[in-house]
Formats: sequence, C-alpha cells, structure tokens
Amino acid sequence: MHDSTADALIVGAGPYGLSTAAHLGNLGLDVRVIGTPMEFWDTGMPRGMFLKSEPFASSLGAPVAGATFTDRHPGWRAGRPIPLRTFVEYGRWFAETHVPDTEDAQVVRVERDDRRDDYAVELSTGEVARARAVVLAIGVRAFAHTPAELAALPAELATHSVAHRDLSRFEGQDVAVIGAGQSALETAVLLADAGARPQVLARTQRLAWNAVPVPSPSLADRAVRGPHSGLGRGYRTWIWSEHPWATRLLPDGARRHLVRTTMGPAGAWWLRDRLDHRVHVMTGRVVTGAEEAGGKAVVATTGREGDRWEHKVDHVIAATGYIPDLDRIGILAPELRERVRLTHGSPVLGGYFDSSLPKLYFTGLAAAASFGPVMRFVHGADFTARRIAAHIAARAKSGSVSSKSSVTRADDARDAPPYAGTTPPG
Ligand SMILES: Cc1cc2nc3c(=O)[nH]c(=O)nc-3n(C[C@H](O)[C@H](O)[C@H](O)COP(=O)(O)OP(=O)(O)OC[C@H]3O[C@@H](n4cnc5c(N)ncnc54)[C@H](O)[C@@H]3O)c2cc1C
Repeated sequence: MHDSTADALIVGAGPYGLSTAAHLGNLGLDVRVIGTPMEFWDTGMPRGMFLKSEPFASSLGAPVAGATFTDRHPGWRAGRPIPLRTFVEYGRWFAETHVPDTEDAQVVRVERDDRRDDYAVELSTGEVARARAVVLAIGVRAFAHTPAELAALPAELATHSVAHRDLSRFEGQDVAVIGAGQSALETAVLLADAGARPQVLARTQRLAWNAVPVPSPSLADRAVRGPHSGLGRGYRTWIWSEHPWATRLLPDGARRHLVRTTMGPAGAWWLRDRLDHRVHVMTGRVVTGAEEAGGKAVVATTGREGDRWEHKVDHVIAATGYIPDLDRIGILAPELRERVRLTHGSPVLGGYFDSSLPKLYFTGLAAAASFGPVMRFVHGADFTARRIAAHIAARAKSGSVSSKSSVTRADDARDAPPYAGTTPPG
C-alpha cells in the first residue's frame, strides 16, 4: 500500500505502458504501473498467431541499450515471423528487467482533484492511489468495433475477434469471418487449422498482401522505392513511421486522411500460402444485416451489382478492428471525460501526448489521431515513452511535479521537432 502521491501513475502494462514506465523510472521519478504485463497480448489474441510486424519493429522502448527484441533474440533475422508466445515472453522479460514493480490490479476509476492539482485513481484492490500525472496506456480492447449490421445476433452467435484466444471451440463448425485485414485472414487460417470451416466475407474487391521484405536492398532499389522503416517501404511511410511528430504538424484534414487511409487492410506476406482451399474467401461482399434462424446466424451481404446473398453459419467473428472513442474509456469519471478536448472521438494531444487536462496523457491507438498510424503499432512505443517522460520530468524539475530523486536526464533531444503548436514542457 502506498501512502504518498506518485509522480506518475500508468494505467496498463502493455508495450506503451511498460516503455513509458522504463523511461520515467530512469529519470528518477516515482512511478506506479497498474496492470498485468502483456495481458492483452496473452488473452486478446488467438493462440498460434504470429506478429505481422518485423523483428526490428517489435521492440518496447527502454532508455538503456540491450532491451530490443533482437537484443533478446540475437540472430532473429528480418522476414522470420515472430510467434505470439515469443513476443509475450519478450514483453514479460522487459517488464521484469526494466519495470519490476508493476502492480497486478485494474484501475476502475480516474478522477481529478483540481484543488490538489492531482488525480485520485481507484484500483480493483479498493485502494485510492494519488498521482500528479496519469498516463492512459490502455491499448485497444475498449475500442473493439463490431458493425451495427450484426447487432441483432446474440453473443453466442456473433463475437469480435478480440474475444478469441482459443479457436478450437469452433472445430467442425461453419464460421463467417468479417474483414479483410491481417486479423480476419489469420483468424480464418487458424480456424481452418482448428478443424472449422471458415468463410471470409470481405468488403474489398480483392485481398491485399504486404510485400515480401528484401533483406539487403541495393542502393538503387533503396533510392527508387525508399527506405525501409517500421511501417514498411517508401519515403512517406518512413516519415510517418520514424518521425511521428511530423504528423501532428499536418493540417487537421490531411492528418485525418492520413490516419484513415495509411496501412489499410492487408495480410502479411507469410500468411498468403497458408490461406488455401480450406478457407472460402468472398470479396466484394458488404454486410447489410444479420439475424438468428433456428440457432444459426444468417448474414446478408450485397455485392457490387446489387446481388444479395445469405450466409448461414454457426458463428460470426467480426475481425473489424478498433475505433478510438473516449466515451468508451469507462474508467474516466464523466466530468473528467467532458473536459478532454476531442477530435472525432480521440483526444487532441500536444507534442508530448498531453491532453487538455493537466498531466493527463494518452498513448497508443488513442494517440493515433494526433501522431498518426505508427501509434497503432508497437513501433511507436519508444517515441511516445521518451516524449511523455521528458514532459513529466521537465515539470518535476520546474516544481510542478516533484520527483523522488533528482532528475538525471531530461534530455529528449532525439527526434526533437520544432515545437510549433505543441505544449512546451514546464
Ligand atoms: C490480433 C492483433 C494482432 C496485432 N499484431 C501486431 C503486430 O504484429 N505488431 C504490432 O506492432 N502491433 C500489432 N497489433 C496492435 C497492438 O495491439 C498494438 O501495437 C499494441 O498492443 C499497443 O500497445 P499498447 O500498450 O498500447 O496496448 P496493449 O498491448 O493492449 O496494452 C494495454 C494494456 O492495458 C491494460 N489495461 C486496460 N485497461 C486497464 C485498466 N483499467 N487497468 C489496468 N490495466 C488496464 C490491458 O490489460 C493491456 O494489457 C495487433 C493487434 C491485434 C488485435
């Protein structure tokens, strides 16, 4: 039980929360991390899954050397997919090594006390923790999106992909998977591996696949196709991937377009051969409705020519992604939610991931509307962590947040952007 006010409390111990904690801890700040390390990766993704991101783009961020995925697994070459289990183990190792004091609890409520200029954070243990800064690193689960067209189906017949860790329960069943991204395609393959009969209903006219990575591209190839970065190949991709601060400087409309259209649904190159005759893929099908009939789910779809089909299945899995929406972050007290400035459901963030409320920070998917597509991936964690840690540390230095020991390194010069339009630290 802590009886003092922490400099910062981090909600969530996934890649973003752990990276931020590692950086804050290194700056000598008193940090509490509430959450089970890598819980979402362990329970919200299907067993047997592989990561889509390349090994060099699958690292948590630490302030010291030796903490990347390839430091942990030397010799893991580009192009060799990482099994989910290996990544979960890496994340837990990172936590043990760099953030050993995570607290295995849930945050149930976050309230602000303006008079004391701090936050009261209620935990599942019953404790009310106090912190001068709160970092919401809650990931994607709260934002799981199921199309309204499936709303008439009961939970036994329709679920979001996030609900499935073990797909073996569908052995011998007909399962419709809605979507055309990696999650939909890999879920379908894993269903086939588990002895189910999957059918993919995709809105796109044809499936898209990521290109096979070239291990050592020639200089000429690099000049023409652009550098290789965490999000893929190309000059523009490199900017969004490696310099996310630049995204914030775009005009609102351009940034929104970028976030909506970059990294559209596509399967990993290594999945292509596994999507074989066992999976029935129907492209160009828009789901228009669904109903229960005789214990089965009947999904109605319409094609480009207006043709209407009905698909009768035992279960429907919506692999339809995640849409950030502050109203779905139930742990935020309503009066606090009302004070967060929003753009299309996401918080408007300053250059240090700071929201319109003092020392309340958002990371990951919730930050994508401000910092772009890399926030949807592990690759954005180190940038985010450095930024937030620098901001909190600078405020501690100026007296607005007190640290348990002196701040040793508040230099966040790496990747420093022009700070035009951002909230300066301190
Ligand atoms: C099927 C699937 C495959 C993916 N594959 C990749 C990939 O290959 N590469 C990649 O870069 N990204 C991938 N992603 C995206 C991935 O989810 C994010 O990159 C990553 O999880 C972001 O880290 P995070 O810390 O923001 O979120 P999370 O990893 O979701 O961590 C957030 C944590 O917060 C915890 N939490 C939430 N609420 C509370 C609370 N109230 N109290 C305490 N703890 C709480 C959760 O338990 C969770 O563990 C994939 C996503 C899915 C769904």
